[in-house]
Amino acid sequence: MNDPAERLEKTRNRIAEACRAAGRAPGEVRLLAVSKTHPAEQVRAFAALGQLEFGENRLEEALEKQARLGDLRLVWHFIGHIQSRKTADVARRFDWVQSADREKVLRRLSAQRPKGAPPLNVCIQVNIDREPQKAGANPEETAELARLCLELPGLELRGLMCIPRIASASYDPADSYARMFELYRSLRNDGLPLDTLSMGMSADLEAAVRHGSTMIRIGTDLFGPRPPAGD
Ligand SMILES: *Cc1c(COP(=O)(O)O)cnc(C)c1O
Repeated sequence: MNDPAERLEKTRNRIAEACRAAGRAPGEVRLLAVSKTHPAEQVRAFAALGQLEFGENRLEEALEKQARLGDLRLVWHFIGHIQSRKTADVARRFDWVQSADREKVLRRLSAQRPKGAPPLNVCIQVNIDREPQKAGANPEETAELARLCLELPGLELRGLMCIPRIASASYDPADSYARMFELYRSLRNDGLPLDTLSMGMSADLEAAVRHGSTMIRIGTDLFGPRPPAGD
């Protein structure tokens, strides 16, 4: 990886510029560094620069990295598909889970969050484009899952997350982001206390910021390309 400081500054500037262009305050949008497939030492380099929130999508890989970085106070977000039989480690080792998408997983995370630990921050992942191969709740199931999350001990409902349909000549993910914002807004109007709309990646953070994202998840632009199998 070439200079992490340079990459981090570039990404922060890009987010700030997107906020300015959208008429939003730069402080409204957080940066999550997606460290999946990249070694602990690269996480350490970003942490030394003040980037303290990291996202991982594979449990075993994340736990190993966390063990190597136990001397640092980092905020870990689980952003990958959650298998029900693996919820215990997510509940114990993460600060956030952004990929909760069904009742069973929410109930298990709640039951398995250690007593005395701060609540696990939860975003409901929404399959905003209803893609059959993709994880996430359907948009119309989201309100009920959010309400359940609100009731369950050990969980703190924070918001919504999505991975939109891939951009192509015939599809602009800005459309997905606009629908996500509508959903977020309508849930908030119904009284759900959401403060996080997690959407936008290296390729399209500007569109996400324009449509109300409060958390951008960046892997490639910070850490460089991933090996092909790493996605
Ligand atoms: C890999 C990943 C990202 C980061 O994507 P980049 O295009 O590398 O910035 C963001 N969100 C999720 C859920 C991911 O799995």
